[in-house]
Amino acid sequence: MIKVLKPIVDLIAPPLCLICEKPTDKVVCDTCRSKIDKTLEIKENFCLKCGGVFDGRVCPRCRDTKFVFEFNRSVYIYKKPIKDLIEDFKYRGIKRTSDFMAEKMANLIEKEFPQIDFLVPIPIHPTRRRERGFSQTELIVEKLSQITGIPCDCSSLIRVKHTRVQANLSKGERKENLKGAFKLKNAEKFKGRSILLVDDVMTTGTTVNEAAKVFRRFRSIRVYSITFAIAVYGSRS
Ligand SMILES: [Zn+2]
Ligand SMILES: [Zn+2]
Repeated sequence: MIKVLKPIVDLIAPPLCLICEKPTDKVVCDTCRSKIDKTLEIKENFCLKCGGVFDGRVCPRCRDTKFVFEFNRSVYIYKKPIKDLIEDFKYRGIKRTSDFMAEKMANLIEKEFPQIDFLVPIPIHPTRRRERGFSQTELIVEKLSQITGIPCDCSSLIRVKHTRVQANLSKGERKENLKGAFKLKNAEKFKGRSILLVDDVMTTGTTVNEAAKVFRRFRSIRVYSITFAIAVYGSRS
């Protein structure tokens, strides 16, 4: 009986805000949204190359890595509650989070990027996809494509190496870990075009950079990057 009733209860009960868990008809309620927009949304004083925020004169992320994409922009600083939002989405499979992510990212595309021909998700390895049951970046890209009308390509950039989690590795280890991680099929399709790589979080930026490199072997392909959140470089929080 309980099993039968459960879906009905789900339909009747109003959905809860993913941050404060109070009833709302939105994914993130207005109160939480204005709070995170005020405290964590990146609007000024960001690095024009990697899109990160930093103290001092030189961007530490760009000092450590030579990025081959034109530039990256990110919506939020990767701190609580944005961090929890992304973790719930990825590891607990709360898929409606992607509606909110795509809406914010679509606004940023309109504001910051030139004409883009294709949206390309940073792929996860097929093994990880099987474990998780879905690819979070593909889901975001599909929704982004619906909102912006920019076509997406979810099959040409492939992940051929099952990499370890980057965050706990040294700079040298990270580089080695990612070497040859991506391959590009159908390169012809992208020549002379602008593509936008899409990921949920940028930490060091080395993953996106490796993906950008397989496109940049063809000099006529322009590569841009967007992520929902970006970590404060060197910070573990
Ligand atoms: Zn809320
Ligand atoms: Zn930078």
